[in-house]
Amino acid sequence: MKNIAVIGAGTMGNGIAHVFAMKGFEVALIDISKDSLQKAVATIGKNLDRMVKKERITEEEKKNTLSRISTFTTAKDALPNADLVVEAATENVNLKLKIFKEMDDYAPAHAILATNTSSISITKIAAVTSRPTQVIGMHFMNPVPVMKLVEVIRGYATSDEVTDSIMELSRKLGKVPVEVNDYPGFVANRILMPMINEAIYTLYESVAGVEEIDTVMRLGMAHPMGPLQLADFIGLDVCLSILHVLNDGFGNPKYAPCPLLVNMVTAGKLGRKSGEGFYQYTAGSKELVVAPSFAKGEKVT
Ligand code: NAD
Repeated sequence: MKNIAVIGAGTMGNGIAHVFAMKGFEVALIDISKDSLQKAVATIGKNLDRMVKKERITEEEKKNTLSRISTFTTAKDALPNADLVVEAATENVNLKLKIFKEMDDYAPAHAILATNTSSISITKIAAVTSRPTQVIGMHFMNPVPVMKLVEVIRGYATSDEVTDSIMELSRKLGKVPVEVNDYPGFVANRILMPMINEAIYTLYESVAGVEEIDTVMRLGMAHPMGPLQLADFIGLDVCLSILHVLNDGFGNPKYAPCPLLVNMVTAGKLGRKSGEGFYQYTAGSKELVVAPSFAKGEKVT
């Protein structure tokens, strides 16, 4: 594999383009929004600058990495050369099905079509293509240049050969791939989201406040971030939509989203990206300015 196309230049897409270009692959980065493309290239540049400052790469390597990334606003122009297409567009099932039909139309017959979806069925996505054996999940974690894991998800029809080549490719990127089967939430979100949901229920039932819950999990379980802060970081709307996928997929009420989460999303409190979730943030920043949104012992229901 030499030529990689990445569809979607948002949070995940720019990180995926960054790691492939760093390892010498030619990357075509595609987004319908010119603004997203510009921001993505600027973000990759800033992240590479940080690596130069830390002496992890040279100025020359930074320049070469950036020179391997080209940007496109339509898939049609970028896909005919691709050996692998990684889709990292907005998490919306109908959008992904539409994009995969295009990927199937424009990418060469040998190309592998991968998706970075957090929760949508790989088998369902593969079914709209003419090459379901070559469709696979390549679930990178955020931030992509830092996080080591790639959850490699085999759809019902994904071949052994394609799985092996994506496992090998992930290792070439310096990542640790883990192969899993295609069931709702895969492994990462099947385990993480019920934990986050339970933390929200713990707050909802006034068992403890935001900081207390996060402190128990940080200091007691050695988690680097408490579940409520992590939910803010992921986005409360994203957490809610993954819980819906688990609830619908398994039909088991244990996955029902906490009413407090539903209310917060309805009220536009989406976490870090909206400036407020379980904590309050300076807009667009990771920094807490006032913590937490709910005072200790305050009744939140
Ligand atoms: P994002 O909103 O930051 O970026 C999505 C990008 O997709 C936007 O730039 C948008 O313009 C673009 N887009 C929308 N429609 C498009 C189209 N038809 N063609 C090309 N580009 C299009 O989203 P994100 O957080 O980067 O998430 C992308 C994917 O990665 C989702 O499937 C998400 O579930 C998954 N994911 C996200 C995270 C995370 O922490 N953010 C972690 C793992 C996986």
